[in-house]
Amino acid sequence: MTAQSDYAALVQRGLSLDLTRGKPSPRQLDLSDALLGLPTSHKAADGTDGRNYGNLQGLPELREIFAPLVQVPAGQLVVGGNSSLTLMHDTIVHALLSKVPGAERRWVEEPEITFLCPVPGYDRHFTICERLGIKMTAVPMDAGGPDMDVVERLVAADPTIKGIWCVPKYSNPSGVTYSDETVRRLAAMPTAAPDFRIMWDNAYAVHHLTDTPDELADLLALAAEHGNADRVFVYASTSKVTYAGSGVSFFGSSPANVEWFLANTAKQSIGPDKLNQLRHVEFLRDAAGVTAHMRRHAALIGPKFELVDKVLTERLGGLATWTSPKGGYFISLEVPHAAEVVARAKAAGIALTPAGATHPYGQDPGDDTIRIAPTFPELDELEQAIEGLAVCVRVVADERG
Ligand code: PMP
Repeated sequence: MTAQSDYAALVQRGLSLDLTRGKPSPRQLDLSDALLGLPTSHKAADGTDGRNYGNLQGLPELREIFAPLVQVPAGQLVVGGNSSLTLMHDTIVHALLSKVPGAERRWVEEPEITFLCPVPGYDRHFTICERLGIKMTAVPMDAGGPDMDVVERLVAADPTIKGIWCVPKYSNPSGVTYSDETVRRLAAMPTAAPDFRIMWDNAYAVHHLTDTPDELADLLALAAEHGNADRVFVYASTSKVTYAGSGVSFFGSSPANVEWFLANTAKQSIGPDKLNQLRHVEFLRDAAGVTAHMRRHAALIGPKFELVDKVLTERLGGLATWTSPKGGYFISLEVPHAAEVVARAKAAGIALTPAGATHPYGQDPGDDTIRIAPTFPELDELEQAIEGLAVCVRVVADERG
């Protein structure tokens, strides 16, 4: 059988499979269905009524649970709605419209704003920048995070660089966890902009796939030690802990930034959904409860990551390289002519994230990165999709030589 005839047979099968987005599977969502019967009481720990307005910062009992997991003191943590992406979007909008601590002026008054984007990275970060008129500069990633020689050189020289996007643990899509050295250098580096911010999107803080989790250094504490306490914006959510559509999110930062953030959000809301917060407190109980719950997720999705690795090894050994992450939601497949592989897969009924999506402006200069999201399909569908993807890689390799 040639690669061409394998591909013709694949198209013939008329598959309809989707590997585009990192969504939890229905069985993962089922793990949290006790939430549907909670909370049993509307009373918060301080006796206030969770059904009413108020408590803009979020319930302290929920912040206490997540503080050690996201490495932010509970007093410096804010609970948001179900989406941390909203918090990221809104903090930048707030910085545009009201001076962040340390800023000389509002960002909207700056002639130009640039964010550094370690690549491969998360497409929705790039979309926020595009929407808000923020220029993006790609920075290469290596096994320990962004290339810090490049980052340090750029931020020291250019005051228009106001931020950097980071997914520091089990990064989307490469699975990389930032090394202690990378985190220390991010905390300590001199920046030309006095109001430089690190967008520390710790979306996969507790999403381990092994019993030997990666450890991440505490950026917020290190930045404070280096006199850069206001540099760090931390984000996280329970989107892939409980329900992706009905969880809680977190913003954490220095006391000055938290005060600035709450002063801004006070104009948007008279208080968050505290019944959902109470529901999460009753369900998760404490940090150990979260960790135990995440083991149940790992038991469901670990085999999916293993399956992808097995099929790719069998079918593509020597033709492509890919990551074997210890956590998170993605596998990054590096293969020549990635856009063409994705187009071939689409024609065969296998939907993949567009090839350039891992880079700013949708442009992957090497055209070699494909993000695989293995969590949503069940094992049999996943196997068909990855087998099909391997056929597409081989047919493109064959035709392009
Ligand atoms: N950040 C990263 C790195 C993600 O991968 C995702 C989900 N794919 C999000 C944020 C979205 O988070 P939320 O559901 O809290 O908006």
